[in-house]
Amino acid sequence: MSETLFTKIVKREIPADILFQDDRVTAFRDIHPQAPSHVLIIPNKPIPSVNDVTPEDEAVLGYLFVVARKLAEQEGVAESGYRLLINCGDDGGQEVYHLHMHLLGGRPLGRMVARA
Ligand code: 5GP
Repeated sequence: MSETLFTKIVKREIPADILFQDDRVTAFRDIHPQAPSHVLIIPNKPIPSVNDVTPEDEAVLGYLFVVARKLAEQEGVAESGYRLLINCGDDGGQEVYHLHMHLLGGRPLGRMVARA
């Protein structure tokens, strides 16, 4: 499997505005933010998409939510509200095949996110 640019961000081989990193998860600002706060939260393990998730990934995927909750507080959007979003495959609009959770907040997002 070829490395994605997110794997390179995890390894700090390419720059990113990293907000959090430990041995399981990395979180960094999206390069093209769709909201005042737009953070990508990813497992360090390069799971390509939700289609590739296995039972052994349960713990790290649950942990993404723990990190998301902390970052929502840190970003100051916990009270006002935010959206957590995971795209899968072409019709889901997935661009980078390293599973990632979007954390979007800081403005009313409407019922769904529309992307140009
Ligand atoms: P997807 O469409 O796969 O769910 O989301 C991929 C996201 O990655 C997009 O929101 C896009 O703006 C972001 N992105 C793409 N390339 C880079 C990059 O090099 N650095 C960062 N920080 N974000 C990126």
